[in-house]
Amino acid sequence: MRFSELIDLCRALESTTKRTEKRRLLASFLHRLSPEEVPPAVLLITGSIFPESDDLHVLEIGGATLGRVLRGARQRTLLEEPLTIVEVHRILKEVAKVSGKGSRRRKEALLEGLFGRLTPVEREYLIRFIFGEPRIGVSEGVMLEGIAEAAGVPLPLVRRAHMFTGDLGKIAQTALIGGEEALKGIGITLFTPVKPMLAEMSYDIEDVIRRHGGRTALEYKFDGARIQVHRKGERIRVFSRRLSDVTSSLPDVVEVIKERVSAEEVVLDGEVTAVGEGGRPLPFQDLMRRFRRVHEVEELVELIPLRLHLFDILYLEGRSLIDEPYERRWDLLSEVCDEELLAERIVTGDASEAEAFLEEAVRAGHEGLMAKRLDSDYTPGRRGKKWFKIKPAETLDLVIVAADWGHGRRRGWLSNYHLAAWDEEEGVFKVIGKTFKGLTDEEFGEMTRRLLRLKVRETPYTVYVQPRVVVEVAFNEIQRSPHYPSGFALRFARIKRIREDKGPEEADTLRRVRELYEEQFRYKAKMKIDL
Ligand code: AMP
Repeated sequence: MRFSELIDLCRALESTTKRTEKRRLLASFLHRLSPEEVPPAVLLITGSIFPESDDLHVLEIGGATLGRVLRGARQRTLLEEPLTIVEVHRILKEVAKVSGKGSRRRKEALLEGLFGRLTPVEREYLIRFIFGEPRIGVSEGVMLEGIAEAAGVPLPLVRRAHMFTGDLGKIAQTALIGGEEALKGIGITLFTPVKPMLAEMSYDIEDVIRRHGGRTALEYKFDGARIQVHRKGERIRVFSRRLSDVTSSLPDVVEVIKERVSAEEVVLDGEVTAVGEGGRPLPFQDLMRRFRRVHEVEELVELIPLRLHLFDILYLEGRSLIDEPYERRWDLLSEVCDEELLAERIVTGDASEAEAFLEEAVRAGHEGLMAKRLDSDYTPGRRGKKWFKIKPAETLDLVIVAADWGHGRRRGWLSNYHLAAWDEEEGVFKVIGKTFKGLTDEEFGEMTRRLLRLKVRETPYTVYVQPRVVVEVAFNEIQRSPHYPSGFALRFARIKRIREDKGPEEADTLRRVRELYEEQFRYKAKMKIDL
């Protein structure tokens, strides 16, 4: 196909802002291309010319060079054969390959020849392509939709393929030629990092165990930075969560991989932490100094030693493992690396064992736990329920000052409890949250009888009681609230136990609530930033 037809498409794309229209234009254009024309066309339209994973991905042509080229290029004559998309791309590739002595002159000559065969409008667009800014409103997302429509394949499959190769041209070609089956076959490739799998937040270990089918793998959630290691023999590259290559900042990690991982070809997923006194993790900021350092790395290697914790394996000796269940991946990981590199982990279905492990993780200076579903595959770039992150909940001892009648399964019970803290200044209990979570059926019945004995007044929905019963309440966050006179509200509150041993005078105060609020605020200010 002629290059001019690609330019016509670009002009049409530029003239509409409608996403559906762009998708349609792209799809019908892609349809008309022959297989070898697909990658160059897709790459030019999205402004990348070469795939990111290509070693040769930069043209290195500045504005001054282009200026000279344009002045030097002759006018196109009408008799000339028009250029095709494939020819234009091939010449650009030649330009990128030129190196060594006299390369500037050689590049300019090639480009002059190319521009000399283009019309003014085509020149304008080619310049935009070369600068990586086509300005036709086709993002990666729109292109993925166009590819899916052209090939008649589900969009999620196209997106998945994109996670693995990062090469839109190749994905389009595969989708158009091989359809769904071929796309499914695209997997992980050595030295092309994939986006790491992420987790959803959970506030409740028991709930996580249930959702994971009664048993789950719990690993420490390290307070560090995510890394992905690709290895083929002596060649080792380390990528950050954002997929940038951080190998040169982490020579000690590379060394550890060489010495303690026995696989020849492998992709590993893990976290590095900075180690301080007594083996405890250093704050995240210190770790980031290591990641940012490019020069004189050695000095920092001594000052801020790192520890590698591995928790997944995505590729081994020529085979992608991401569709294997987590449990199988873990077994393979344990076979190829030294035990001390493995993340601390237990597999359990027992909530109290899980709670104890969570406490252990926090005492060791880490953030909490990750719960991983035993039969789950590895879904790059996705945040889902196959992995949950669990952070320890705070607790407060609060007093029940009222309760609402339950409905549905809890009809007949006082089951939604109004929880209050003591306001020392005003000498009253002030509500900071409500919950119906945490008690067993038996406890609901008992609590109902008890509260009715303490009743001071009631409405059709609510029974107000003397402040006598103290409960230990777990929660995940304290928020500012215009809703309660206390000014605070607990997020995800649930009763951990009834504190028979405590009287209302021993309950927590509003001052304590305020302190905890401030503390979590401090914590948030130094919260993890993405790499
Ligand atoms: P978040 O950034 O809060 O979504 O949590 C996910 C991050 O936790 C990952 O990107 C990792 O950097 C980190 N992490 C720490 N320990 C683990 C672990 N055992 N498994 C997976 N991710 C972990």
